[in-house]
This record gives sequence, C-alpha cells and structure tokens, in this order.
Amino acid sequence: MSAWTRVVIAGAGCVGSALACALASRGVPVVLLDPQPPPQPGARQAVDPRVYALTLASQAVLEGLGAWDAVRPGACPYERMEVWDAEGTGSLRFDAAETGECCLGHIVEPHRILAALAACGERFGVERRRDRVTDFQVHARHVEVWLASGDRMEAALLVGADGAGSRVRTLAGIPLDVLDYAQTAVVATVRTELPHGRVARQRFMPSGPLAFLPLADGRSAIVWTTTPEAAEELLALDEADFCAAVTEAFGRRLGRVLSAEARAGFPLRRRHAAAYVQPRLALVGDAAHTIHPLAGQGVNLGLLDAAALAQVVAQARRRGRDPGALPTLRRYERWRRGDNLMMMRAMDGFRWLFGPRPAPVREVRNLGLRLVDRLVPVKQLLARRAMGLTGDLPELARYLP
Ligand SMILES: Cc1cc2nc3c(=O)[nH]c(=O)nc-3n(C[C@H](O)[C@H](O)[C@H](O)COP(=O)(O)OP(=O)(O)OC[C@H]3O[C@@H](n4cnc5c(N)ncnc54)[C@H](O)[C@@H]3O)c2cc1C
Repeated sequence: MSAWTRVVIAGAGCVGSALACALASRGVPVVLLDPQPPPQPGARQAVDPRVYALTLASQAVLEGLGAWDAVRPGACPYERMEVWDAEGTGSLRFDAAETGECCLGHIVEPHRILAALAACGERFGVERRRDRVTDFQVHARHVEVWLASGDRMEAALLVGADGAGSRVRTLAGIPLDVLDYAQTAVVATVRTELPHGRVARQRFMPSGPLAFLPLADGRSAIVWTTTPEAAEELLALDEADFCAAVTEAFGRRLGRVLSAEARAGFPLRRRHAAAYVQPRLALVGDAAHTIHPLAGQGVNLGLLDAAALAQVVAQARRRGRDPGALPTLRRYERWRRGDNLMMMRAMDGFRWLFGPRPAPVREVRNLGLRLVDRLVPVKQLLARRAMGLTGDLPELARYLP
C-alpha cells in the first residue's frame, strides 16, 4: 500500500466504519483505527445502550456497501410515527403509505451495524488496527500519524471519525461552537403491556420529549429527555419505580411498562466544528457535529458525511488529483456543512417550540399540529425530509432498491 495514497481513519464507530468501506470499495487503501474491537456478528450484548432511528437514506448507504442484508434481520421497520403534545390535544401522525414508501425508517441497535460494517470492511480489504491516534503532523505531501502503540504511519489524508470528544479535532486546533442544552437523555430498553405495532411514538412534555422506538424483538427503546436533576433521580430509581415513572410520563399509551434494562444517561450538547477540513485532514460524524436526539438524526447525518467524503476523495483519485489537498476537501465541507447546520437549526426550533411556553404559544402550537396533521402534502414534505430523501444526496445514499 502506498503510504501517500492511503487514508487513515481514526474511529470505527458507524460513521468511520461506513467511510472505510465506502473508500475501500472504490479502491482507496484504508487503515481504520479504534481502541475497541468490532462487535461479533450475532452478538446479543449491545455495546451501546442507544438505538438508531435509521432513515431510508442511511439504509441506502448500508445497502450500497453490502451491509444491509446483515443488519435487516435485527432492524424493526416502523410504518407510522405519532407525535403529540402533553399540554393539549394537538397531535401529528405520519404514515409510510402517504409517502409511497414501505416504511418511514428502521430502528436498529448500533452493534448490528458495526458488526455488519466490520464484515464488509474485511471483504473490501480495510486494514483494521486496535489502536488510537495520539498525535499527527501535516507535511506538504503527506500527514504523519502517531498511535498509542508507539507506531507511526503516513497517509494522504487523516479523517477524524472519533466521536464527540474527537482527539483529532482537538489536535488540529479546530474551534467548536458548543451549546449546552442543560438536558440529559435517559435511555433504556423496556417491555410494555401493549404491543408497539411498529409505530414510533413521541410525547412532548415541557421538560422534554419521551420517545418509544419499536425494536424487532417486541421491546421498545425509550429516549426520555429531561432536566439533569430529574434524569439523575430517574437513573437512581429501582426498576419497578422507574417503570412506573415511564408508564405515567407516557400517559399509558402502551399500557404499563413491565421491565426496563440498560438504563443510561447522556448529557446533551449541540456541537459544531468551525471547520470540517484542513489540509490533509477531515472530520466526519460526531467529531464534526452533535445535535439534539429528538428527531434521531445524528448518525444519519454522519453516514451522509461519510458517503459524501468518500465520493469526493474517490473522484479526486480517479482524476489523478491529491485526495488530501484542501480544494478536494473543501468540496466535502461545502456539501455537508450547510445541510448539517440546517438540521441543527430545525432541531433547536422544535426544542424551543415544545419547551415550557406561555398558554398562548401552547395554543398556537397545538393548533399548528392539528392543522399540519390535515395537510397531507405538507406532512409528506416533512416526512421525506425526516426520511433523508431530500437535498443533494451523495451517490451512495441514492442506492435504494
Ligand atoms: C441519547 C441519544 C440518542 C440518539 N439517538 C439517535 C438516533 O435515533 N438516530 C441517530 O441517527 N442518531 C442518534 N444519536 C446520535 C448518535 O448516537 C451519534 O450521532 C453516533 O453515534 C455518531 O457516530 P460516530 O461514528 O460519529 O461516533 P461514535 O459512535 O462516538 O464513534 C467514535 C469511535 O471513535 C473511537 N475513538 C475515540 N477516540 C479515538 C482515537 N483517538 N483514535 C481512534 N479511535 C478513537 C471510539 O472508540 C469510537 O468507536 C443519539 C445520541 C444520543 C446521545
């Protein structure tokens, strides 16, 4: 492998792994680094208590990489989505049938995606190493990367896919625009008295939304966004009291919550890197941006970053251009930054609207929900946006069957 044509990726989360496969499948030599080993296919133990609501665009990316067949058996397609206001009668229902698609998306546990992408990476010849990037230095024609093991590598391009606390981003000195939401997301996997019927549900309360996401095995994954103090109390409750609290907060929409496993809390912050690229360096996924999980878009945006960067780098290589040169990388940044920013603003708007507001705003909010619910074309537009089917999609994300 020629050191100066290869791409080194720090971080084998879903985004880094997808990028590695997308590049390697286009003939770009890739080294993928992560201190964590990939989960084994079929492993029951979830490595991450979060689940992902994957958009159809993300499904297309995984299809295009040949990973979807291994993900599908454990993924739960959801055909409907219901959103309602705890402080009023307004509600919104999205139905896949109205959009002409078979489902609105899939709920998937991350370890299934990671295992599938690790297997694809092996097929495409991705060199995976259990190691961590500790430092790097950019030179005129290559980047030099140091690893925790003491090894040193050279590459045309270093990609930071190393998550929200990105070491690569910090070492590059890229400033971060941070907004602390002063909220914590409490997640858990629950069993409910009534079946979820493959419907994703979200109840908006003044302290934050509570989502029930259907899993393939009949359980639901919950994401309850609330104040840090309330989250601490929820996490400290014993299982029976936690189940009772969730049952009441959800207005018994699925009857009683019978059991709850894998409880964890995630403090929520919006972060946006001031730049996604520098000479010989690019950031993707949570290393570049984190957003409020209320619409479950984080990993979906990251997969689009990965698909876009792979397309730009592979194209440069085909044309005999330097894949790590700034003009090449700027194309990726221009492509993705605006889209990600727009989604962040939309999430902030929702968060503001559904936060604790005076009675007149609440009335208008409920009226708006009822109105939009009746306007099928507007709902179709919103649904297609949430499904990731609008905008300037990279080739891989258009790979739907
Ligand atoms: C409560 C909650 C619910 C969410 N729900 C959804 C949802 O429904 N849908 C959705 O799309 N998104 C959701 N998200 C967002 C989603 O979890 C993230 O966007 C996604 O995990 C980002 O993936 P990533 O690969 O960029 O980063 P990560 O998953 O954080 O992966 C980073 C990887 O980098 C490795 N690493 C770290 N440092 C180094 C280093 N120095 N060198 C090499 N490797 C390193 C780590 O070991 C890790 O494997 C949610 C987030 C939260 C908090």
